[in-house]
Amino acid sequence: MEFQSAPVLPHDYAETVLVSDMTSNFLSRPVPVERYGLIFAGTQKNIAPAGLTIALVREDLLARVRPDTPFLYDFNVLAEHGSMFNTPPVFNWYMAGLTFAWIREQGGVEQMHRNALLRSGKLYDFIDTDDFYSNPVDKSCRSRMNVPFILADTSLDSTFLAAAGDNGLVELKGHRSVGGMRASMYNGMPESGVDTLIEFMADFVARYG
Ligand SMILES: *Cc1c(COP(=O)(O)O)cnc(C)c1O
Repeated sequence: MEFQSAPVLPHDYAETVLVSDMTSNFLSRPVPVERYGLIFAGTQKNIAPAGLTIALVREDLLARVRPDTPFLYDFNVLAEHGSMFNTPPVFNWYMAGLTFAWIREQGGVEQMHRNALLRSGKLYDFIDTDDFYSNPVDKSCRSRMNVPFILADTSLDSTFLAAAGDNGLVELKGHRSVGGMRASMYNGMPESGVDTLIEFMADFVARYG
C-alpha cells in the first residue's frame, strides 16, 4: 500500500513532527518536503546499491538531537561534517549521483511518477479484468511500486513461479508475511518489463485457466 499524498497535520498537531520512511517510493513522485521533519530512505530500491541511507532533516531539528544518541546516528554530527564524519560508502554515493542525473535526464520526479502510474496501472488493469488473478487492496491505497496479486487457484503458485522464471521473470514470490505474488517495479523498471509480465500472465491463464 502507498500513501497517494502527503498527510496534512491538523492545527492542534502543529508541534508534531512528520517522519517518513520513503525507501520504497523515494524520488518516484513529487513530495512537499516542507511538510516533513524527517524523510529517510535506504537507497537499495530506487537509487543505488544497498548500504547507503539518505536523510532529509529539517534544520531546526538538528539542534534537538537527544544527548544520548550514538554519534554515528546523530544527524547533527553528520550535517556538520558534510556527511563525512566517518568514511562514507563512496561507491554508493557515486552510483546515487549517476541515478540522480539519470532521473533528471528522464524529466525528473514528475516523469518518474508518470512512469510509475503507467507501469502499475497497466498491471492493475490486467489483474482487475482477469478472474484468474486478484488484488485485494483498495484502489485509493494501491502502491505504484509493488503490485501484489494472488492466483484464484493457489495450488498453481509454484507452477506459476517456475514458469515465470523460465521466461526470465524472477523474484515474483510474494512477501513472506503475505504470500501470493508481488511484482516490484521501482524507478529503473522499463515499461517493457511490465508488458512482458502481462504477456506471460495472460499466456499462463490460457494454459492453466
Ligand atoms: C524495503 C524497505 C525497507 C528496507 O528493507 P530491506 O529489506 O532492507 O530492503 C525499509 N522501509 C521501507 C518502507 C521499505 O520499503
